[in-house]
Amino acid sequence: MRFAAMGSIIKALCSCGFETEFFGGSLRSDQQSVCMAPALCAGCGNLQTVNYLEKDCHCPVCRATVVFYNDPALQAEQVSSGPQPEDFVLPRSACLCPSCGCFSLHFEPLSCCE
Ligand SMILES: [Zn+2]
Ligand SMILES: [Zn+2]
Repeated sequence: MRFAAMGSIIKALCSCGFETEFFGGSLRSDQQSVCMAPALCAGCGNLQTVNYLEKDCHCPVCRATVVFYNDPALQAEQVSSGPQPEDFVLPRSACLCPSCGCFSLHFEPLSCCE
C-alpha cells in the first residue's frame, strides 16, 4: 500500500502483546515534505515515527540512526519488488518487533483521512 499521499492511523501489533498506534503518511497540505513512517531506532530500540522524506532521519527521542520498516532487514519475508520506491510502503510481511525481537509484528491501517 502506498501511503505518502494520505494520512492514516496505523496500528502495530505483535503476538507478544506489544501494541502501538501512530499517525502515518502525510497531511494533505504537507505531502511534499512530510511522510511519517514507522522506523526502528538503533539507539533506544523503540518503534518511532519519523519523517521519511527528511534527508537525515534520526530518532526523535535519542537522536540515533533509525531504520525504516520498509527495509528488507526488518521484514520476515523479503518481497523484492524491484528498486526501493520513493514513497514509503507499509510492509505486508511480518516485521521485527522492538519488544520481543521476533519477526511477528504486523501493521494495520485503522483509518484514513482521505
Ligand atoms: Zn532512539
Ligand atoms: Zn513482539
